Order: sequence, then structure tokens, then C-alpha cells
Amino acid sequence: MLIAGNWKMHKGPEETAHFCRRLREHARPSDVDVVVCPPSVSLATAVQVLAGTDVAVAAQNVHWDDEGAFTGEVSAPMLRELGVYGAIVGHSERRQHFGETDESVARRARAALEAGLSVIACVGESGAAREAGETEDVLRRQVSVLERDENLVVAYEPVWAIGTGKTATPELAQEAHAFIKTLLDVPVLYGGSVKPDNAAELLGQPDVDGALVGGASLEVDSFLAICRAATRS
Ligand code: PEP
Repeated sequence: MLIAGNWKMHKGPEETAHFCRRLREHARPSDVDVVVCPPSVSLATAVQVLAGTDVAVAAQNVHWDDEGAFTGEVSAPMLRELGVYGAIVGHSERRQHFGETDESVARRARAALEAGLSVIACVGESGAAREAGETEDVLRRQVSVLERDENLVVAYEPVWAIGTGKTATPELAQEAHAFIKTLLDVPVLYGGSVKPDNAAELLGQPDVDGALVGGASLEVDSFLAICRAATRS
């Protein structure tokens, strides 16, 4: 089981240090891989404060080139130099607000994996696509650009469930995860309004291998409660 906290654009270095110190002090289940994903300005602080613990630090995005004229971007070798373990690619907020496409997501994932980073690649259908019966088509299109790699995990994040409080039912999540695994043989995390009170049921599904948690990862107590739910699942 892997539980990753996507902080989105929350927590500068000071808040990050505070959160990571508290995370370090609290007992965490030994059979759950725990990852935090702070904004890029806070990655170095998270790596420093969590050094020597089993909590890994990942970025929220990564560019496909090692360096160059790409204002605002950060490369895989730069993240490696910081001691960062991996990166999220293709989050729906990046697809929606920053013009991310399946092709750019694939390039980011490939470059990060080649550089030795682990990758969490996000896929998921919009509410309109689900209502139109196009969920499988969307997932097939988004997953087909990714290549199997032992350091790749996919996060199934139905867009209609992200930050909305609307969670996929465990059955619906299981169905989508099983479908994704027919396309690509990698672990699949669930993301979309995962909270301490719904985590155990979602994580208890046979093809749910962990969670990518947004809002509920911002507080140490709720994040740890989700990590504990993963150990019981
Ligand atoms: C996310 O940001 O990946 C996410 C799933 O957010 P939330 O848990 O807030 O829905």
C-alpha cells in the first residue's frame, strides 16, 4: 500500500517544516509506504526534515528535458539533486489549467523514470465523460501513452471526485482500477476526496493499491488516519 499526500499549492517551507516534524514524531504503519508531495519551493525543506525516516518526498510535476529554456519548470536531475524520490505527472489540475496533454504527460513520465525517479501518473474521466458512457475510452487514451515500469504507479482520479467531497463508490473505484490493470500492469492508487472515514472501504478493494490524497493530506492527523486505514485494509 502507498499513501501519497498531494499538497497542491499549499505550505511554504515554514509550514512544511512544521508538518514534517510532526509527521516524523508520530508512529506510522510500517507496512504502508508514505509519500508527501509539497510545492517545489518546499521540497528541500521536506527532504531535510524527513531525512532518516521512511517517509519519501515527491514533486508535483517534472519536465522532460534536463535543462533549457523552459521558464517555470523543474527537471528530473534537479529533483534528484535535492534528494527527491519521485514526481506526480498529469494531475487533472495540470491538464485542466496548464494545457497538459496525454503526450506531454507521457514525455514527463518517461524522462523522470529514465532519470531514476518514481512516477505517479494521474488519469481519470470528467463527470461529463462518465455520464456519456466514455469512461473506458478516456482511461484507455490516457493510459495507452504510458509504458510499464517498476517505478511507475497510476493514480485513478475521477475528475468529478477531486476536491468536491464526491467520492467514487468502492465498487466504481474497483471497476475502474481493474480496467486500468487490463491496460497496464502497474499498481493503481485511488484519488478523489479520500478522507479518514471512507479510506478503509476504498483501500479494501482488491485492485486499489493505495491512495493519492489532496485536501485530507494537509493536516497531519487526517493524513495519518488514512495511512492507518491502509494498514488495516
Ligand atoms: C488530488 O489532489 O489528487 C486529490 C485527489 O484531491 P482531493 O483528495 O482533495 O479530492
